[in-house]
Amino acid sequence: MSRTISLQSTWIDQHGNAELILRPAVYEKWVYLLSDGNAQMRDLLGGKGAGLAEMVNIGLPVPPGFVLSTQTCNAYAKDGKLPDGAWTQVEDALRVIEHQSQRRFGDPERPLLLAVRSGAKFSMPGMMDSVLNIGLNDETLKGLSEQSHNPHFAYDAYRRLIQMFGKVVLGVDAHKFEAVLEEWKTKRHVTSDCELTTEDLQNVAGEYKAIVQRETSQPFPQDVMSQLRLAIEAVFRSWNGRRAVDYRTAMKIPNDLGTAANVMMMVFGNMGDSSASGVAFTRNPATGENTLYGEYLNNAQGEDVVAGIRTPKAIAQLKVEQPQVYEQFAEICRSLEQHYRDTQDVEFTIEQGKLYMLQTRTAKRTAQAAAKIAVDLAEEGTITRETAVARITPAQVDMLLHPRFDALAKEQAEQAGRLLTKGLNASPGAAVGAAVFDADRAVEWAKAGRAVILVRPETTPDDVHGMLVAKGILTQHGGATSHAAVVARGIGLPCVAGCEGIAVDLDTQQFRANGITVIQGETISIDGTSGEVFLGAVETLIPNFEEQTDLVKLLGWADRISTLGVWANADYPRDAERALAFGAQGIGLCRTEHMFFETDRLPIVREMIIAADSPARQLALDKLLPIQREDFKGILRAMAGKPVIIRLIDPPLHEFLPPHDELLVEVITLRVRGDEPGRLATQEKLLKVVESLREMNPMLGLRGVRLGILYPEIIRMQVRAIVEAACELQSSGVKVRPEIMIPLTIHYNELKVMRTLTEAVAQQVMAERGVEIVYKFGTMIEVPRAALTADQIAKYAQFFSFGTNDLTQTTLGISRDDAEGKFLLSYVKKGLLPANPFQQLDVEGVGQLIKLAVERGRRTNPSLEVGICGEHGGDPGSIAFCHQTGLNYVSCSPFRVPVARLAAAQAALGESFRDV
Ligand code: PEP
Ligand code: MG
Repeated sequence: MSRTISLQSTWIDQHGNAELILRPAVYEKWVYLLSDGNAQMRDLLGGKGAGLAEMVNIGLPVPPGFVLSTQTCNAYAKDGKLPDGAWTQVEDALRVIEHQSQRRFGDPERPLLLAVRSGAKFSMPGMMDSVLNIGLNDETLKGLSEQSHNPHFAYDAYRRLIQMFGKVVLGVDAHKFEAVLEEWKTKRHVTSDCELTTEDLQNVAGEYKAIVQRETSQPFPQDVMSQLRLAIEAVFRSWNGRRAVDYRTAMKIPNDLGTAANVMMMVFGNMGDSSASGVAFTRNPATGENTLYGEYLNNAQGEDVVAGIRTPKAIAQLKVEQPQVYEQFAEICRSLEQHYRDTQDVEFTIEQGKLYMLQTRTAKRTAQAAAKIAVDLAEEGTITRETAVARITPAQVDMLLHPRFDALAKEQAEQAGRLLTKGLNASPGAAVGAAVFDADRAVEWAKAGRAVILVRPETTPDDVHGMLVAKGILTQHGGATSHAAVVARGIGLPCVAGCEGIAVDLDTQQFRANGITVIQGETISIDGTSGEVFLGAVETLIPNFEEQTDLVKLLGWADRISTLGVWANADYPRDAERALAFGAQGIGLCRTEHMFFETDRLPIVREMIIAADSPARQLALDKLLPIQREDFKGILRAMAGKPVIIRLIDPPLHEFLPPHDELLVEVITLRVRGDEPGRLATQEKLLKVVESLREMNPMLGLRGVRLGILYPEIIRMQVRAIVEAACELQSSGVKVRPEIMIPLTIHYNELKVMRTLTEAVAQQVMAERGVEIVYKFGTMIEVPRAALTADQIAKYAQFFSFGTNDLTQTTLGISRDDAEGKFLLSYVKKGLLPANPFQQLDVEGVGQLIKLAVERGRRTNPSLEVGICGEHGGDPGSIAFCHQTGLNYVSCSPFRVPVARLAAAQAALGESFRDV
């Protein structure tokens, strides 16, 4: 809750320092002067308010202002009115900034004008409202005009206020105002607003007032205090506007945070050519390069820059136009970076050569920039390596491994005349999809499973729902800091912006570029890294991990922090090699049966299953043995001394045979036709076997270790293949560390049998080969009983590996193959389950079993090696749980290894490193 204070009045000392002091009534504190706040107060003051307060604290030029807290917004939302005491506090704070600015609000001679800007704890770019130029009316307009010696500017400010206030506060359709402005521009044959004469603007303002009167049946409010109050309330209401709510839902931002309302003295970037408004990043947010990166517009207000309507100038140009201001600005950016120890995203205004900072916040950046900035800041000594590792998110690592266009395919597309044009490379990555021209259609098509690229003249917050489902964004107008660019970078979408080479026609839903017309639904490819736009699809490539030196370095630092190893699930040598390149420290699961599915092996596997007796089965197994031995040699050789866990046969045998229904149809057809007696006999025999293996619930039937109990000769063959492979490699000087794993154990007796059998075969092979190898024997823990009796099972196992796919299935009692399609996803949507338990470990349920099994297993066998090899092994949240539970490693698919390495380190760093 807010600090409870008693307000009396505002005290201002002779130096202009102000303080709000006691009043007799006791109220909550709703209003904070910027000098009252600091960077830590984001909950209360929102990101913008806290950033402004911090800049005031470190002595940067910030216009005077105050903040109505996020709690005021929540109180307003609850009661539909500002809370008691809030308005008096606004009046008091206003007095302070009047004093600081040496102007008075509503003063006809030296009017103070105010901006009211929204600003929540988490940045929600353009999703909420702001109102500028508050305090102008027919009277103060004259004062502003005289004081600025610039009536053109004053009328422009007035018409902007009526337009913004009309739209945001009074809910008048914005097009009504735009139409008037367009009419005047057409009448005067000019293209930009500033080319209209003062008289024109005066007429525009007059017409605007008439629109307000007509649409709201009220005159435009002349009372400046009402303007301020209504604007503050409108900003608070915008927290619950559709755009804001949609954005929060998509970004998982809680709805109860509220927005602050930042009330600040207006400074004008539109007071002539020595004035400007701009936005900048202290480092390049697309590449991470350490150079100022930004844009500004002369003679413009802030919203003109982000709106993407006029094409702005690069920040480097300011060095030429106003060198002193540029130097001051560059210095401020340097000190902000040092102060926050991170790249900042700033907004500024230059009013007739005087620089004001209007915002600073931690810059959103691409994944590539995040890695480079983290590494550079650590190497510059600004942050520690631990902080650097905490600065990049698992999702960003994932993005760095995403596809990009194949250079050759791009070249060919270019030669074939499919390169349409080139725009600004606003957000990197490659995307291929159908061109769509409005956000609603994008959502509709994406829902139907189509990949779409949203093409717009420029985007606005109203397009965000379409952007969220698109594979990429292409805009005709707007710069690197336009709405499209900022939002795309934030959500990791490829974006080409400011692509003036295309002419978008929304009426006909098409664009023209390079003499070619692209209609809705036609496939295009955009390269957000280079800015190129192609007709048709361009082949994409998985990026080369090793070439991403910053990421490789960061993950190296991550490994030194982690206590949890990261292994990979790999069935073939090529997977093992990839996993190794991604930094895997072992193979946590090699599913041997996957090798059985290869076309050259399946017939032999079927022969083995169909075999009527043990000798016949042995014949088939003898054929499989050398093949499996080569498989294992490949994977053990690739891992060269790192642990390789090889799991013995697991799935129900019917999976290796043709489906029952298909076979039945074939047999009946053959019987009816009667022309292929040989084939009929074979297929009838096969059908009998398939029928004998049919089960109602095969996943809970004859599979896993039970296959080994029933068909020990299969296990003997597999163990022999593993041990022979290991012996051969070791004899040729290759280090090997095989670990033999039994799936789906229920009872320690099963393991006892398997262990005896394994040891006998291993001893025999080693004796035959005259080689001694070291191997481990262990089991998967995949059913609750195994977890509960882990102390007994650990007597026969040197390692446990949690097969959390099955353990989730058996603990929740829902089928891993059916639940997602049938009901699970709607369960998650309805909030009945917090997440899909097959993706994110059910820590409360399945997690308890894992904890218990680790404790009980290690009680019996303190050196028990414990890992996880279900899909959860690559999920960052589940990895944090594995770290806390003291597992030795997580094992996941090779592509997820880099993410898992980062997540393991971040789990070791703990919560305290989250927000650094
Ligand atoms: C598991 O059950 O988690 C596992 C890794 O085994 P599979 O997915 O092959 O059943
Ligand atoms: Mg399993």
